[in-house]
Amino acid sequence: MIRQKIVAGNWKMNGSKASIDSLLSGLCAMKSSNSEVVVSPSFPYLSEVSTALADSDIVLAAQNASHEEKGAYTGEVSALMLSDFGVKYVLLGHSERRSLYSESDQVVALKAKAVLEAGLTPMLCVGETLEERELNQTLVVCERQIQAVIDLLGVDAFSRMVIAYEPVWAIGTGLSASSEQAQEVHQSIRAFLAQHSESIAEKIQILYGGSVKASTSAALFEMPDVDGALVGGASLDAKEFIEIVKAAG
Ligand code: PGA
Repeated sequence: MIRQKIVAGNWKMNGSKASIDSLLSGLCAMKSSNSEVVVSPSFPYLSEVSTALADSDIVLAAQNASHEEKGAYTGEVSALMLSDFGVKYVLLGHSERRSLYSESDQVVALKAKAVLEAGLTPMLCVGETLEERELNQTLVVCERQIQAVIDLLGVDAFSRMVIAYEPVWAIGTGLSASSEQAQEVHQSIRAFLAQHSESIAEKIQILYGGSVKASTSAALFEMPDVDGALVGGASLDAKEFIEIVKAAG
């Protein structure tokens, strides 16, 4: 099964009007790619980035969404609002959201529901901490995080979702998982989904995230179950990010 690769830049809480303008001019000079290229700016820049990308093949993601539809939720942004700005993907369950903002598996599942109902595609991030890896809990954790979504929405929801495996110990640390470590987990996640639906498991794109750089990306993309990358730090540098996109083919 050929799955299109996705290379997604997670800009996190970085950038200014000026730096984003310059990043975008670098990205817009990129030759078209067989992979789907995604960028996710912070909320205030979505409108501007959406306009700037209108003539390109680069698609837009948001970094979060509320699980509520609308109403008295000061400071929140709904998935429906995001759909007004041409957003395609919404990152959900990023480890920074889980650990710094106490998002439980259940809240992440509710967010996935809201995002799907708004017609957008959740990019569900899962992954273990270093301690959990050392205790051999990697798959237990990833499966628990995925199971919470299955419990709420059923496995069919995964036909309209993307998964990003992001080991917490690799995020922003410069310590990427090896391509073999990534492959092992990706294959296991696919096998876990296959217990519920073989066709969904076969089709779902599973991205790797955690200190992805141009120099490590080619080996990752050679792995049969690695369908792309979710790139943090390296996505803020147009040249580096374009190299990663090129490595994806
Ligand atoms: P990193 O971040 O590439 O800077 O490790 C990845 C992510 O958090 O999505």
